[in-house]
Amino acid sequence: MPAYTHSGDHVQLHDLLFVSLFSEAQVSARVRELGAALAQRYGDKQPLFVSILSGAFVFAADLIRAFHAPCEISFVKLTSYSGMQSTGAVQTVMGIDAALEGRHIIVIEDIVDTGRTLHFFLEYLRSQQPASLCTVAFLRKPSAAVFPVEVDYVGFDIPDRFVVGYGLDYNGLGRNLPGVYQSAEP
Ligand code: 5GP
Repeated sequence: MPAYTHSGDHVQLHDLLFVSLFSEAQVSARVRELGAALAQRYGDKQPLFVSILSGAFVFAADLIRAFHAPCEISFVKLTSYSGMQSTGAVQTVMGIDAALEGRHIIVIEDIVDTGRTLHFFLEYLRSQQPASLCTVAFLRKPSAAVFPVEVDYVGFDIPDRFVVGYGLDYNGLGRNLPGVYQSAEP
């Protein structure tokens, strides 16, 4: 079986078949709404967007271009240890290259699943004394309640199935799909 085939509403990545969940048009309409909502609240504050790599890079690129006001952006790369769910350690692989104190920070996350990544990253950000802190997640799954995180802006609430596209991958493939696809297997 080929590692990558794409036809109509289906895409095959490695051993898994994915079906369309949100089209490119649906995604871009929602991202424009989020950008406008953020600009209304932060338009005069020159916020610092902090995008969590790697998955959020596509969303971040579109979101800041839908934010029609002055802003800055920085990136952070985090990994979480799946074998340590109870302690939930999250490691910083690439840190932020901007001063955070006194800044209005908007964290951009691709998808909130258990909330572990965001929970620990927000704890770190709070310790840096920002002027304000808010979070934007492109997608949110119902299991997001495992770790207590407040997501201020959500693109779409989705069922608890593995998704790819719009920056999200399955074993390296699928990040370049302009829409969102969910696993055909429950
Ligand atoms: P959490 O720390 O909230 O449990 O997980 C967040 C991270 O897990 C996301 O940033 C993403 O990298 C990964 N993740 C969770 N669910 C999915 C999914 O359905 N598809 C993909 N590609 N990644 C996911």
